[in-house]
Amino acid sequence: MYGPTHHGWIEVVVGPMYSGKSEELIRRTKRAKIAKQKVLVFKPAIDNRYSVDEVVSHSGQKNDAILIEKACEILGHVDMDTEVVAIDEVQFLDKEVVNVARQLANKGLRVIAAGLDMDFRGEPFGPTPELLAIAEFVDKITAVCMICGDPAHRTQRLINGKPAGYDEPTILVGATESYEARCRLHHEVPR
Ligand code: ADP
Repeated sequence: MYGPTHHGWIEVVVGPMYSGKSEELIRRTKRAKIAKQKVLVFKPAIDNRYSVDEVVSHSGQKNDAILIEKACEILGHVDMDTEVVAIDEVQFLDKEVVNVARQLANKGLRVIAAGLDMDFRGEPFGPTPELLAIAEFVDKITAVCMICGDPAHRTQRLINGKPAGYDEPTILVGATESYEARCRLHHEVPR
């Protein structure tokens, strides 16, 4: 997609929930596999939304994935033949993922990282900002605002249907909460 190169690089796909980050990661890794490249897909063990060892998009597309607790585990799975390393939900990994991505790209691998750039408060999320800074290629994609239909860059967290307050914890997987894509105007974070 970015033209042929003979060295490694980092590409990052960010956006709010439902913007199609997982779909895009799956699309890119499928194309690499068509080109007969050895691809490894990783995701943090914390994201068990739909499937344990697969990346699954909200629209149901799937790709096998290796579950990891810590970013440094990625290096243990990469061998001489690996050409592409893809990481989904990268915001949930520790900051070491930045060094891991840098190391792999320096060795000549293509690194694809997809994840949330902002948390539900609209603030930079985990290691994503640093990855954005060191990446060669960045795609910031949008969802559809569930209030007005404009492009949505933010993720609205709802608890019992009401906007979650600023002080609620950032990570709370599987609770009685829900998320919506929203534009800046309709993104609410009560203090
Ligand atoms: P992400 O990984 O960014 O959360 P996914 O790739 O899992 O996104 O899912 C993207 C899909 O979510 C879209 O193709 C569409 O089918 C669905 N979807 C649900 N709600 C929305 C929304 N508000 N805006 C855009 N797509 C949405």
